[in-house]
Amino acid sequence: MSSTNQYSMRDPTTQYPRPPFEEQPQKAPGLAKDMRPRPDHGEDSYVGFGRLKGRKALITGADSGIGRAVAIAFAREGADLTLNYLPEEEADAREVVELVRDSGVQVHTVPGDIKDEAFCKQLVDSAVKNMDGLDIVVNVAGKQAYQETILDITTEQFDQTFKTNVYALFWICKAAVPHLPRGATIINTASIQAYDQSPILGDYAPTKSAIVGLTKVLAKQLADRGIRVNAVAPGPIWTPLQPSGGQPQEKIKEFGKNVPLGRPGQPAELASIYVFLATQESSYVTAEVFGVTGGHPLP
Ligand code: NAD
Ligand code: MG
Repeated sequence: MSSTNQYSMRDPTTQYPRPPFEEQPQKAPGLAKDMRPRPDHGEDSYVGFGRLKGRKALITGADSGIGRAVAIAFAREGADLTLNYLPEEEADAREVVELVRDSGVQVHTVPGDIKDEAFCKQLVDSAVKNMDGLDIVVNVAGKQAYQETILDITTEQFDQTFKTNVYALFWICKAAVPHLPRGATIINTASIQAYDQSPILGDYAPTKSAIVGLTKVLAKQLADRGIRVNAVAPGPIWTPLQPSGGQPQEKIKEFGKNVPLGRPGQPAELASIYVFLATQESSYVTAEVFGVTGGHPLP
């Protein structure tokens, strides 16, 4: 591990690569290992302090991007993990398993497609069985496919985006709630797109508004069970979601240019807020949405 960690003081404008970037089309869902420059998921920097010791977390979208950064951080903070991703992302997932191997926690992988309700239930059941319980659910998986106009969005795409981003979250939470003890937390992944919609994300942006709504409803509903529910709303983050059809390639070249910090965020820069929301440090925080946007604030 390098001597620089998440606490080393640095200039956030130059801490990570700034645009321009190369065009780099990939087929969805894309792989982190094929991105240029490679994203930083905290592999060489995140230092844990046992803040999640003994906790049991299920993380979707855990092979790459924000989910990978969360997996690395949670493992180094002492949580056992069940990781979900798509079977075609096995190469990225193997890297994650390798990276957390020396953290001394259990790591289980349950690849599969969360667009399927039966699989979502099976995923939660496997997590509970493998880890002998479940007390943190982190919904990170998401689908984003830009289309210039509503005329270009097929019913199939609209359906797949809503299934991945909204229905799966509903199915996973519904399956998880009966297992969650008092003190458990659910963390969802919304987006700045819930508040400031790009015209080319006609199906994706409304799924993120739905996630904000579901987060608040669940938080209010589950408060008396002692379960907290929050969401993180990222701005532009350097992950495979974007070059694999999330944005046109000409937007990848200038990705992150328009936020005040002038660059995209790296997945590593999201990890600490998920850790905070998972631990008891955030005991009085529920029904909230936290922006991590490089200066494009939530309203
Ligand atoms: P990513 O591509 O690394 O992660 C998305 C993951 O979703 C994939 O790795 C894949 O495992 C998972 N996934 C997609 N479809 C699935 C399916 N049918 N079944 C199971 N898993 C599936 O990209 P990321 O940017 O880290 O995305 C993570 C979350 O962050 C998403 O919810 C995304 O909407 C959100 N987000 C990203 C950005 C950004 O700029 N990258 C901005 C705001 C919000
Ligand atoms: Mg991936």
